[in-house]
Amino acid sequence: MKKGRRNAWAVQNMKWEENIRRVVPYVAGEQPNKPGMIKLNTNECPYPPAPGVQKLAAQLDCDRLRLYPDAHTAPLVEALAEYYRVKPGQVFVGVGSDDVISMAFLTFFNGKEPVLFPDVTYSFYDVWAELYRIPYKTCALDESWHIRPEDYKQPNGGVIFPNPNAPTGLLESLDRVEEIVRANRDVVVIVDEAYIDFGGVSALPLIERYDNLLVVQTFSKSRAMAGLRIGFCIGNEKLIGYLNDVKYSFNSYTMNLPAQVLGVEAVRDDAYFKATTARIIATRERVKGELKELGFTFPDSSANFIFASHKEIPAQKIFQALRQKDIYVRHWDKPRISDYLRITVGTDGEMDRLIAFLRDYLAETKRE
Ligand SMILES: *Cc1c(COP(=O)(O)O)cnc(C)c1O
Repeated sequence: MKKGRRNAWAVQNMKWEENIRRVVPYVAGEQPNKPGMIKLNTNECPYPPAPGVQKLAAQLDCDRLRLYPDAHTAPLVEALAEYYRVKPGQVFVGVGSDDVISMAFLTFFNGKEPVLFPDVTYSFYDVWAELYRIPYKTCALDESWHIRPEDYKQPNGGVIFPNPNAPTGLLESLDRVEEIVRANRDVVVIVDEAYIDFGGVSALPLIERYDNLLVVQTFSKSRAMAGLRIGFCIGNEKLIGYLNDVKYSFNSYTMNLPAQVLGVEAVRDDAYFKATTARIIATRERVKGELKELGFTFPDSSANFIFASHKEIPAQKIFQALRQKDIYVRHWDKPRISDYLRITVGTDGEMDRLIAFLRDYLAETKRE
């Protein structure tokens, strides 16, 4: 083929690029898999799922995989409704809370005014807003990393924030959450409670009084099932109805059968769930003291991670040193937070190794 002709062909074909939905994707924490590594970078639970889940997983009848799963995820919806004392019609289940929140953006955020969320927060919100072409505006957290409810009293097309917030770990009081929900009765307010089980007070009781409130939770952190991808939200039946209409217009069979079956079992074992979260909270509080002794400062976390900054050594440098030792934490090269590390709370043994390494590393680095 002649050169000129090939170019013309290429240029002509590039026209399709004009109609591309261009997005800058969310960047998830890396998922290394090395023997002996300490993985404290994506807020997973360091303990296995409930014993009943492990047992059921081993007994799973593979013949059932020939068939489509229950499109309505009814047993899991019912188990969650019973556990949280709401009606099944108030529960929506999705493939991780990422799926739930993405569906909620598509369903509820269709106004002309911008959707509001904090400047420092879960970095998926702006990605979904861009993907669905939803206008949005961020509101700066105050100097102590708290949400300012006044910021959410301006004209808007909806509100979303995590409580506790990520990556700060800071919990807002239920009064503050209610203040924001009450000030926004004409739009939907989504409270992303991915970390609420680590000592926070859930906004769930407020759904009886506020039909514009949607509370989102996940099995990925406190229920030790990130690998199965289960998330859910609870709200007014009308909200859930609209969410279902969009979901069934998108893909009916999103949640696979093993996730549905094992999810129900995880909800049943409440004692294990409470024991595991209590253990993580105890480890977190212990590690806060040790990090403080080593010269770290951090907002007082109510989540399963600590957002820590060192007084003398840059976060990026500590991040690299840890990584070389196969200790993975999270660091963002972003405004306001580039001097912080988000450290997931692992087992006591893992945290002991982290602290021991940091103690030696900081002593050495300061001497240099
Ligand atoms: C982890 C996380 C999610 C998503 O979790 P899923 O695994 O998709 O359930 C949502 N919001 C926040 C704030 C999170 O940290």
